[in-house]
Amino acid sequence: MERGQMKPMDAEQLRENGHRMVDFIADYYKTIEDFPVLSQVEPGYLRNLLPSSAPDDPESLDQVLEDVQANILPGVTHWQSPNYFAYYPSNSSIAGFMGEMLSAGLNIVGFSWITSPAATELEMIVLDWLAKLLKLPEEFLSTEQGGGVIQGTASEAILVVLLAARDKFLHRIGKNALNKLVVYASDQTHSSLQKACQMGGIHPENYRMLIAGASTNYALSPDVLKEAISHDISKGLIPFLLCATVGTTSSASIDPLLSLGKIAEENGIWFHIDAAYAGSACICPEFRPYIDGVELADSFNMNAHKWFLTNFDCSALWVKDRNALIQSLSTNPEYLKNKASQTNKVIDYKDWQIPLGRRFRSLKLWMVLRLYGSKNLQDYIRNHVNLAKHFEGLVDQNPRFEVVAPRLFSLICFRLVPAEGNLELSNKLNHELLDAVNSTGKTFISHTVLSGMYILRFAVGAPLTEKRHVDEAWEIIQAQSSLLLERFST
Ligand SMILES: *Cc1c(COP(=O)(O)O)cnc(C)c1O
Repeated sequence: MERGQMKPMDAEQLRENGHRMVDFIADYYKTIEDFPVLSQVEPGYLRNLLPSSAPDDPESLDQVLEDVQANILPGVTHWQSPNYFAYYPSNSSIAGFMGEMLSAGLNIVGFSWITSPAATELEMIVLDWLAKLLKLPEEFLSTEQGGGVIQGTASEAILVVLLAARDKFLHRIGKNALNKLVVYASDQTHSSLQKACQMGGIHPENYRMLIAGASTNYALSPDVLKEAISHDISKGLIPFLLCATVGTTSSASIDPLLSLGKIAEENGIWFHIDAAYAGSACICPEFRPYIDGVELADSFNMNAHKWFLTNFDCSALWVKDRNALIQSLSTNPEYLKNKASQTNKVIDYKDWQIPLGRRFRSLKLWMVLRLYGSKNLQDYIRNHVNLAKHFEGLVDQNPRFEVVAPRLFSLICFRLVPAEGNLELSNKLNHELLDAVNSTGKTFISHTVLSGMYILRFAVGAPLTEKRHVDEAWEIIQAQSSLLLERFST
């Protein structure tokens, strides 16, 4: 391209380049199993492969795509690979992809209603749809006093909830009480709550990470919570936020929402439910009981970008009292004033989140719900859960291994049991097994620690995974464990 002739958004060039990019991505998906699932590059690998400064003159898309193939893809960990079983899934789908494309094409910044009325209104409608699929209580609907909002991540969701709850309390009891506010959750709660406490100015000693161990299947015990609350009250502290999890990050355990919610209610505490991963499953009637008690919650969060075929990022947060969010997060500068906002006829989502600018993210969720329909989405979840059950059966059949926490959704926590029963040795063995399995590049699993035990996590949930991928992963795990045990016994 000659200088001075750049046309950054020429429709015909977009058509040509766009088709080429879609072809490139389709070919990527066709050959995705040829790559090592976990990238095997060394830190800093890319610096030697790319020039040290940006080009003065334009290059062609071909040149860039060649570079992607040769230098970028080796440094990619393939989250969409059917052999991906690490952490929790982060689904993509054609529908989600189409929504992302359309959102990129329109490229609006929808901070207030007026900046693109459709963006705000579609988000309200789609989150009402999803709330109904999850059978959330009516108070969470935008037609009531609450409503849903799409955050980037569960971490942002928990932060805005903590700020709303904090300010609701401080408004009532005075700003000086900040140092007295106490947050409750189990030690299995995602670290984003701790980060939110740090950012929200919660006194570092006032975050109660209550122990949830093997005896309760890693769920928070209501008695432990009650005791902590009365102890804090007796010291003059003020309980203000309880976070329960449905599907914890380590083991997918479930806190008992009904009993915890009642304790929160009795003490006037804001009750938040983090169902980032497992929330998706609750569109199936057989899994919905896991969120019984959500009617007692003030806020509920699930990541559509984990297990709901909606490309990253899309984290759905619902609140019962939208004013609590708005009172904590709204600003009203002159340059954003407009009639619709000032007459209070509309929602301005800038007041429900941390940034001002926001993408048109509801498009992809809308596409997923429309192009697949809830029945397919339910079957999609069930298929993964069945594959996980299948894997659990395989682990159970091999006396060298054990499942270490109940499998509730599509996650299996398991480990190699050493003959000696020595914890330290077992931890070392399992750690080495993890590294050995992942360095084959053929499958990718992750780990956690539960009650001091080093544990392997196998989470089914990639959109391309079939039974043969699960079987192959198990073959690899067994083969690597045999090699490892041979080495240890000599
Ligand atoms: C994944 C996860 C999170 C964090 O999700 P982000 O969207 O990456 O912030 C929080 N809580 C639970 C239970 C999770 O599974």
